[in-house]
Amino acid sequence: MALISSILQHAKSHSSSKISTYIQRRLFSNDVRKENIVIVGAGIAGLASALSLQRFGIRSLVLEQAESLRTEGSSITLSKNGWKALDAIGVGDELRSQFLDLQGVVIKSDDGKELNSFGFKDEDKSQEVRVVERRVLLETLASKLPPNAISFSSKLSNIETSENGTNTLLQLQDGTRLSAEVVIACDGVWSPTAKWMGFRQPKYAGHIAFRGLGYFPEGQPYEPKVNYTYGRGLRTAFVPASKTKVYWFVLCNSSSPGPRITDPSILRQQAKELVRDWPVADMLNLINLTPDDTLTRNPLYDRWLWPVISPPPFSGRTVLAGDAWHPMTPNMGQGACCALEDSIVLTEKLAEAMKSKHISVEDAFKAYGSERWKRVFPLTVMANRIGALLQSENTLICSVRNNLLVPKLKPRALTKHTNYEFEQAKRDGH
Ligand SMILES: Cc1cc2nc3c(=O)[nH]c(=O)nc-3n(C[C@H](O)[C@H](O)[C@H](O)COP(=O)(O)OP(=O)(O)OC[C@H]3O[C@@H](n4cnc5c(N)ncnc54)[C@H](O)[C@@H]3O)c2cc1C
Repeated sequence: MALISSILQHAKSHSSSKISTYIQRRLFSNDVRKENIVIVGAGIAGLASALSLQRFGIRSLVLEQAESLRTEGSSITLSKNGWKALDAIGVGDELRSQFLDLQGVVIKSDDGKELNSFGFKDEDKSQEVRVVERRVLLETLASKLPPNAISFSSKLSNIETSENGTNTLLQLQDGTRLSAEVVIACDGVWSPTAKWMGFRQPKYAGHIAFRGLGYFPEGQPYEPKVNYTYGRGLRTAFVPASKTKVYWFVLCNSSSPGPRITDPSILRQQAKELVRDWPVADMLNLINLTPDDTLTRNPLYDRWLWPVISPPPFSGRTVLAGDAWHPMTPNMGQGACCALEDSIVLTEKLAEAMKSKHISVEDAFKAYGSERWKRVFPLTVMANRIGALLQSENTLICSVRNNLLVPKLKPRALTKHTNYEFEQAKRDGH
C-alpha cells in the first residue's frame, strides 16, 4: 500500500517518463528478494537446466506455477540424443533400468497390411529408443536437486528488465517480487516470457493427440517394438514402455483445437470412438485398460523460428529454453529431446561465462541461440511436414505414402536426426 500511495503521490507532480523511471526504481528497490539464477517452469527443460547447473556448482531457484510436479499425463519417447543429455546430467542409467530398450518398428496400413518393419539398431548399434513416463522423468530429475530448489505455487505474472539492464524483475501472482541476475525461462508452449520478448503465439497444426498408458498388472504381452498404423486422417501407435505398461496414442484431424477436455470418461469415449472400426483390436483394449490419470488430449502446436523475423531467444539476461522457445509437433518425437539438449548447451555456456572474465552472460546467450537455432528450426519444420503427410485425408497421397514411401523407409530415416553432437563435446574432442 505504501508503495502504491508513494507512486501516486509522485505521479501528481512529474512528467510521464520521470514517473515510469520512478516506478521502476521503487519496484527494484523495496520488498524485492534478490536471486542469482531463476528458472521459470519445473518441466523437463527447467529441471534439467537446474540439475545441469548443479554440475558446475551453480545453485538456481526453480519457480513452478503448479502446486506440485506435473505427475499426471502419459509418456514420451526419448531417442539417443535425449539419453545422451540425461547421461550428461547423471540420471540416464536410473531411468534406463525402468523402461524397455525398444528393438524396432512395425508399420501397418488401416486395412491391417504390414507395410514395413525394421530394427532401430539394424544400421547403427548406438541407437536407443525408450518410452518414459513423464511422471517418473520429472520426479527423477527433481529428486537430484536440493530441498527447496523448487518453489511451487509460484506463477510468474510479470517480467521486466531493470533500468541498467543488468537484472530482471519477476513479479509472481501472489505478489512476491524477485530480482534475478539471470532468468532461464522454461515456461512451456504458452510461455509468458516468450510473449514478453515479442514471439508470436504458437500456431495450431490441425491435429489432436489422445494419449494414455495401458496398465497390465500381470505383465504386458507385447514385444518391445513401436507399432504404428496409418490411415486416412487418422493414425495410431502403441509401444510397450515397461513390463506392465503400454503407451498408446491416437492422432486425428480437427479444424479447430476445440475446448479443453480433462474429464477421463469423455476422453476415453472419444478415443474409443476414433478407433472403433480400426483393424488393430489392441487399441480398444489398451484404451479400456488405461487408468484415468494417464488419459490426455492435446491439440498440437508449433512455432517456426523464421530467420530475421523471429526474435533471438534472449533479451538482456533472460533466455528461453525448450517449448517456451521452439514448440514443435511430436511427429518426430523430438520436443523433449531438444528441450534436454537446450538445457545442456545453455548451462554449459552460462557456467563458462560465470567463471570467465572475458565472456559475458549475453555472449553466452548469443552463442547458445545460434548453436541451437540451427538444430531446432529444421526439426520443427520437418516435424510439421511429416505430420501433414501422415495425417493426410487425400486418397492419392495416402496411397503413395503407404505403397511407395513407407515400404522403402530405412532405419536411418527415423533415427539420423538423433545423432546430435554437442558442439562443446566436439571442441573438447570427445
Ligand atoms: C501429444 C504430445 C506428444 C509428445 N511426444 C513427445 C515424444 O515422444 N518425445 C519428445 O521428445 N517430446 C514429445 N513431446 C513434446 C514434449 O512433451 C515437450 O517438448 C516437453 O514437455 C517440453 O518441455 P518444457 O520443459 O519445455 O515444457 P513443459 O514440459 O510444458 O514445462 C513447462 C513448465 O512451466 C510451467 N509454467 C508455465 N507457465 C508458468 C508461469 N507463468 N510461472 C511458473 N511456471 C510456469 C508449467 O506448469 C510447466 O511445469 C510431445 C508433446 C505432445 C503434446
